[in-house]
Amino acid sequence: MASTDPPSGTSTPLDSAASSLGGNSLTSSLLRAKPYRFATQCATVDNPDPSHKDQHGSSSVPIYQTATFKGMGGQYDYTRSGNPTRSHLEHHIAKISSARHAFAVTSGMGALDVIFRLLKPGDSIIAGNDLYGGSNRLLTYLKVHNGIKVHHLDTTKPSTLLPVLTNPEQNVTMVLLETPTNPLLQIADIAAISAMVHQHKPEAIIVVDNTMMSPYLQRPLEHGADVVYDSGTKYLSGHHDLMAGVICCNREDLAKGIAFTINSIGNGLSPFDSFLLLRGVKTLALRLDKQQATSHLVAKYLHDLGFKVNYPGLPGHPGKEIHDRLASGAGAVLSFETKDKALSERIVGAARLWGISVSFGCINSLISMPCLMSHASIDPKVRKERNLPEDLIRLCVGIEDPEDLIDDLEAALLEAGAVRVVDEAGSRAKLERVRTAEETEEEDVEVKVEGEVESLIVSAPGKVILFGEHAVVHGITAIAGSVDLRCYALAESRQDGKVSLVLPDFDFEATWDIASLPWDQVTSSAKAPRPESTPDQSFVDVLAQKVVRGVDPKVVQSEIAFLYLYMSLSEHKRPSQTFTIRSALPIGAGLGSSAAYSVCISSALLYTHSHLPLPPSTSSAHEGRRAITPEQANVVNAWAFTAEKIIHGTPSGVDNTVASLGGAIAFTKAVKGREGGLDGLHGFKSIRFLLTDTKVSRDTKTLVAGVARRKLEEPDLVNPILKSIQAISDEARRCLTDSDMSRSTQLSTLEKLIDENHSHLVSLGVGHASLEAVKAKTGEQPWGLHTKLTGAGGGGCAVTIIPDDFSESSLTDLKAALADAGFETYETSVGGSGFGLLSTSRNASSVVEGEGGAEKTVLPDVARFRGAAAAELAAWAEGEKGWAFV
Ligand code: PLP
Repeated sequence: MASTDPPSGTSTPLDSAASSLGGNSLTSSLLRAKPYRFATQCATVDNPDPSHKDQHGSSSVPIYQTATFKGMGGQYDYTRSGNPTRSHLEHHIAKISSARHAFAVTSGMGALDVIFRLLKPGDSIIAGNDLYGGSNRLLTYLKVHNGIKVHHLDTTKPSTLLPVLTNPEQNVTMVLLETPTNPLLQIADIAAISAMVHQHKPEAIIVVDNTMMSPYLQRPLEHGADVVYDSGTKYLSGHHDLMAGVICCNREDLAKGIAFTINSIGNGLSPFDSFLLLRGVKTLALRLDKQQATSHLVAKYLHDLGFKVNYPGLPGHPGKEIHDRLASGAGAVLSFETKDKALSERIVGAARLWGISVSFGCINSLISMPCLMSHASIDPKVRKERNLPEDLIRLCVGIEDPEDLIDDLEAALLEAGAVRVVDEAGSRAKLERVRTAEETEEEDVEVKVEGEVESLIVSAPGKVILFGEHAVVHGITAIAGSVDLRCYALAESRQDGKVSLVLPDFDFEATWDIASLPWDQVTSSAKAPRPESTPDQSFVDVLAQKVVRGVDPKVVQSEIAFLYLYMSLSEHKRPSQTFTIRSALPIGAGLGSSAAYSVCISSALLYTHSHLPLPPSTSSAHEGRRAITPEQANVVNAWAFTAEKIIHGTPSGVDNTVASLGGAIAFTKAVKGREGGLDGLHGFKSIRFLLTDTKVSRDTKTLVAGVARRKLEEPDLVNPILKSIQAISDEARRCLTDSDMSRSTQLSTLEKLIDENHSHLVSLGVGHASLEAVKAKTGEQPWGLHTKLTGAGGGGCAVTIIPDDFSESSLTDLKAALADAGFETYETSVGGSGFGLLSTSRNASSVVEGEGGAEKTVLPDVARFRGAAAAELAAWAEGEKGWAFV
């Protein structure tokens, strides 16, 4: 075992004093109460076990180049388990890392592998999205082969971790941080993240890769981390002449697990490499002081030339304040962008003194392109998603003379054409950065599109869950269909640098100065064409705290979702627009009004901001069906899902999928050990339903939680019910897609399933007297119809199937009877189109009709859209020509 744990278990390596190998105590001999400073501690190696003195008084730790040790019961028996040279090294590393335990292994990746073996299948790990390529590769291996879920999140924003940390389905047991990250030099707040993780998941461990800093500049255990590792190949050894990794921790249980793994797999550092590493560490502070001082000069030099430089030592670095709190220096790695991959390759190729090499931490200066070298193992698509520029150049500064290093870099920049001389006078010629052709082009585009975007009307349907609500949370299939009650959005262009959201049904209108919006919060990962799967919580928080205007919580959530999407999809264009959104769907009745709203804003933004091309228009209302491709609908759906997450937290994805794609779907959520899925149900003729809003409001989250609790407390009651609901969904799915089944058999089968599913929902405790009243009324003679609750239950809506031969007069009577009982009814059919688009401007997308030989452009009646009562919106939309649908 290779732990430096002192025998008593109470004192730390920092407590041990005299050394027989030339080491000293930790306090100065002159001022005994004053601890030695770091450089002194680095240079002085203490004996881990003062009772064992070196027989010859050796000044440096000898290399015990032996596999075995003679005798029984001694401190060492076999070098895989422990070796005196390694023990000295480990003791020394623990001392300079503020650690109780340290371990030395054969590489940095070996260290991470040992740490990962603390995980079990089914565990979740949160890791940053700008990680060292090798760490990323090992995480992917764990995901594929060891059943470990990996969440790559933006660790520069601690709040982005919360949704995963607090998700009961994610068993987060480890958080892996790198700070500053390699190669983008982004900063994660170890202290804030450790406190947050320990609060929400006390059993999870925080692991920090400290390679970029070394213990000289940053000691993460002092900030709340549980385990820290370094690639000893880098600064600790300093000369690129050995491979090593070190692991430090304070917790006894973790130390035991780590020691067990190292002994079991046999990757403890060899005696010779332990000797070399120990020697390297003695000069750590000396080397890094010089390397860091030169790094500041190089970073400033590049920054002044006009390059985008990533270095936490520069004043404008976004994480500087946090980094300065965590670390005592900015380190000696920096990166910069040229905006042109080929140009970067030329610069790297033209450097002479800067050696082209992977790795860093060496006394020689190195230059590399991470995307071609250290991070080449990350899929280019993933690199793009994580915003790792292909043109990025990384510089790892050594101990050479700073003037020589800057001269060499300057010569390479000039030779590659990245800079040009603007003034030759003076000791150093004045240079400026040459803008790339792409940058100039981008600027032109920016000017052209400003203020000029398409005006458009979009619409999206609500949904009704026909079968499987509540059970869907527990992995049972739900059947949901679109209803022909819709939400509509009008996006109009304006020219005054403002953006407005108008919600007439809520009597709400807000206008923002576009320039005053918090654009610095828009992370590139949130940009089109597809959003990150989890919304950026800190961006959401800023919008909630500083930007929204509404007071009604429903309006506030809608505003945040709107602004989040508007800003994420605007990129550099930031057009002035007004969005007016109306709903013919009852709001808050479980019919998917928020999903229809989300699809409306996402489609309106994606099309008006030119992320998706407008489909050709058609000349009559329903000919446009399928004019929008499923690929485009999926992009709209992905953004709508982001909006839904902002509005609801953890939606299932059913509502926005139906509102985007239309028709009906069978949705099965992925649960532990079982894959989920979402299938479109094709080929059924739409079915008429009467929706009855009981107007009894309810709390969906409490109802869902109630079923989950009953499942835990009464599994013998709940599990068979869930099984029966699965059988109902399966039969409904067969019945809806069986083209050989007669219409009357189809409807009578659905009626039977409606009754069965309703009684199961009542047994699950989500019924309500108002829903029973609707069921009883619709079931009375002469109507004799079949009704079930839909959605969360506990009030909300009931759905009644209307047979094809049901007379209009009976329906009118039934609606009157329900209205008398205080309910509101909506006639609808299930299974219609997904979202639709209607151009409002005179361009190729608007409708041109021949009339008596003359051509006429028909434009939508926008005034009627604004003024119509909600119940008249469907008739208005039906009257407009030129809709294109999914
Ligand atoms: N962590 C970081 C930040 C690294 O840069 C590296 C290697 O480049 C490692 C870990 C892995 O270390 P090793 O190469 O010693 O296995």
